[in-house]
Parts: sequence; C-alpha cells; structure tokens
Amino acid sequence: MGKTIIISNRLPVQLQINNGTITAVPSVGGLATGMKSVHSGGDSLWIGWSGLTDEQIPEELVKDIDIALAKHGSSKVCLTADEVEGFYYGFSNRTVWPLFHYFLEYSEFELDSWETYKAVNQKFADAILEKATDDDTIWVHDYQLMLVPQMVRERRPEISIGFFLHIPFPSFEIFRTLPWREEVLMGLLGADLIGFHTYDYERHFLSSVRRLLGLEVSFNDISLDDRVIKVDSFPMGIDYKKFSEAAKEHNNSTEKQKSELQKRLDTHKKSAPDAKFLLSIDRLDYSKGIAKRIYAFEYFLNKYPQYKEKVRLVLLAVPSRSNVPQYQLLKKEVDELVGRINGEFSTVSWTPIWYFYRSMPFENLIDLYTSSDIAWLTPLRDGMNLVAKEYIATRVDKTGVLILSEMAGSANEMNESLLINPNNFEQISDALHTAINMPKAEQQRRNTILQKRLERYNVEKWANDFMNSLLDQKKKDHTYI
Ligand code: UDP
Repeated sequence: MGKTIIISNRLPVQLQINNGTITAVPSVGGLATGMKSVHSGGDSLWIGWSGLTDEQIPEELVKDIDIALAKHGSSKVCLTADEVEGFYYGFSNRTVWPLFHYFLEYSEFELDSWETYKAVNQKFADAILEKATDDDTIWVHDYQLMLVPQMVRERRPEISIGFFLHIPFPSFEIFRTLPWREEVLMGLLGADLIGFHTYDYERHFLSSVRRLLGLEVSFNDISLDDRVIKVDSFPMGIDYKKFSEAAKEHNNSTEKQKSELQKRLDTHKKSAPDAKFLLSIDRLDYSKGIAKRIYAFEYFLNKYPQYKEKVRLVLLAVPSRSNVPQYQLLKKEVDELVGRINGEFSTVSWTPIWYFYRSMPFENLIDLYTSSDIAWLTPLRDGMNLVAKEYIATRVDKTGVLILSEMAGSANEMNESLLINPNNFEQISDALHTAINMPKAEQQRRNTILQKRLERYNVEKWANDFMNSLLDQKKKDHTYI
C-alpha cells in the first residue's frame, strides 16, 4: 500500500518569518485535528498553500521553508499575490461560496477569475503528480480545488482519489446558473468517491450530474466511461474529547486559574443570577445570518419585554475575508445594528449585546461555551456548523439549550435541539422563550442524547469512514476490471 496524500487550499501549519528565521506552527483548526488519524507517521503528505505569497517569501528562505514544512509532513504549492486574488478571493469566494450558499445575487461570474482558478487548480494537481505513485491514495478537500480530481486522473488513470466538499452543494436550479457548471462537475468526477456532509447535498449533486451531463446514476453510483464513481454523505464531527475534557478542566479551575474573560462573565452572573446568557458565535459571513439574528433579538425584546435586563446576548463575530467587499459591508451593518440596539434598549445596569469582533483563543471559547445558558446559531445556510456541536460537547452537567437553524448541515444530526427557520422571527422569539424557561431535566434529557451521538460520530470516525469507503471503492474497481 502506498502513502496518503491530503490536499487542501491551506496547509495545516502556519508559517512565521521572524528576523530571517522560519517557524512552522501547527494549526488547531477542525480539519487539521480531524485528519490527525489520516495524516500521521511517515506514510502521508499534506500538500497546500502556505499562506505566504511568492512575493512575501525572501529567495534565501525558500529552502528553509521547505525543510520546516517537511517536519510537519507538509509540502507547499507556491502562489503569487495575483493568483491568490483570482483563485481564492475571486472565484472561490466571490463565485462558488455565495452561489453554493444560495446567495445568487452576490455571485460574480468573471471569466478572468475562472481562468485563474483553473490555472491554480492545475498547480495543485501538478504538485500531487510530482509526489504521487500509482499506489497512493489522494484525498482532495473543498470548493477551492474542485477541478483537481480530474486533472490528476488524466495523468494517473489508476490512482485512487477521494474528494470531500465542506460546504453545501446547492440545488440544481441554483447550480445551473454557473457558466462553467459542466467543467466543475467533470472536475469532481475525476474522483472515485465524492463525499458531502448531508444526504441533501448528495442528492443535489446527483441531480445536477444527471441533468447537466446526462450520465447514468444508479442509487449513489455514477457511471462514467469505464469507471464507477461513488457519492455518499459523511457528516463531519468534532474532536469531542478535546472539548468535553477542556470543559471539565475549566469547571474545576480555581479562581486564580480563571481567564480575565471568565472573571468578567462570573461578575455579571453574580450581579444578576437569574439573567440568561445567549451565545452567538460565527465567522463574520453573510451566510451565517448575523444581522438577521440581531433583528430577531430586537423582535424578541419587543415581543417579550419581561426579558429586558434578564437576557444578554454575547455576540462573537470572527473576522473573515475582509478584503471581499460583501464582508466589509456586513461588518458595517453589524456594527451599526449592535450600536442601534444597545443605544435603544440599554439601561444603567444592562447592555443587551456584548459584541466581540475578534478571534478568540481556544481557552476563551471554552469560557463562552460553558458560561452560556443558550447557544443561538441561526445561519441562513451552513455546510455543517461545528460550533453547535462544540457547545453541546462542553456541557458537562448536560444543561444548556441549543437553538439551531434548520439550514445548517448539523441540524440533521441535532434533532433534540430547538430547530428554527432563521427567517421566522415569531418562531425564533418563541424558541428563545421556550429555551429560557426549559426545565433542567428537559435540557439534560435532550443533551444526553446529543452528547452520545456526537461522542460516537467524532471527527476521527468521519475521517476513517471516508478513507475506508475510498479503499472499498478501489477494491471494487479492481474486481470490476
Ligand atoms: N472558532 C475559533 N475561534 C473563534 C471562534 C470560533 O477557532 O474565535 C472555531 C470554532 O471552534 C469552530 C470553527 O471556528 O471549530 C468554526 O466552524 P464552523 O463549522 O462553525 O463554521 P465555519 O467558520 O467553518 O463556516
């Protein structure tokens, strides 16, 4: 058996250049953790962009960077600033991201950025081809690299390739608006296995393949030339242990060990013991429905005025893609909305919304998860939404209520939460009312079921299930021949 090659837009390490020396720091993101069981030992390689453009890397450091990355089983794809602009900020984030999240009106169809996307996908494919042998297994990740499977397949017809899409796959009626829709589908069909978070995304994909390419689809198998491509759903989990253990440790910590944030949260809890903390955490992205959530909060305070001074919304918006214009507009909108609502409703002892625009370190995330009575997550569209799963995993005594949008992929696995339609303010207000008044025993009953499921279907299982399915597919393919 050969090695496993993982390929994603970003490497699982961050490069830092300080006074002419390079350090590579492992990232703590979900994908990096999830892939640990696959990307370990000497028989795997991760290929991706380092986060630094060619212009940012001094010539004399190129070798050192390669050495630093190799220590983490990684190898870089070099990109110029123009390539990052066209491929990442352009086609990936101004065309595919909005379109696949049903924001058709935000999607830009620019030929130039499509051309750059193709060229950069070819660069990633070439980087694989340079390192791969026919026995290797390739796992390509996400919407930035949808053409890579076919580009590799053309040159290595025998190699085993898996592709996983981490965002939704939209319905045919949305997908068909993409000018390069056939090329994107054909790019993906270079894989032997194509994975999605949910059965719905899988269905949408199959329907596009059938209607746009006229290919034969039988259950979840697609026939193309002499190959059979399997399509399946693999809902991504979290590192359950990491979150539940961190929460246990957090709950046992002494006053001295507490973070500044936790001390502030405690002070507020003490000053109003029966007031509830509502938590909202997302990247600042239009797909997350943050502005709508704030409007819904205003609606709730007007519909149930008895909760004024009795609820506080902790709103964490993590900076994201801030050089894409839609994101800058959203930042302005959220800033203004928070200001308006706080101005309108605040009293001397109460500010309804605590707004943080930053990325929190893991320790503070745990502070927020464990201190919040209710997690309120209302994306308009979300491939999965891991925050929902992380919140539940940190509820050591099993209390806490999750209010979750039915438009999040994770809603499929979290039926015991309060599921809402993010556009229905009446329903959201009533769900908040229900959450605030839900008896402890009921909270614990729901969370016991949720925790069991999340613990079992953790991220390691997700990665292993995908890899095993890919191996099965390879075996079947050989039997078929
Ligand atoms: N997260 C983080 N720092 C923060 C806020 C969130 O690292 O300040 C993490 C969070 O723990 C979660 C991820 O960011 O694992 C967000 O994943 P999710 O699937 O919810 O949304 P995405 O941002 O991938 O669309």
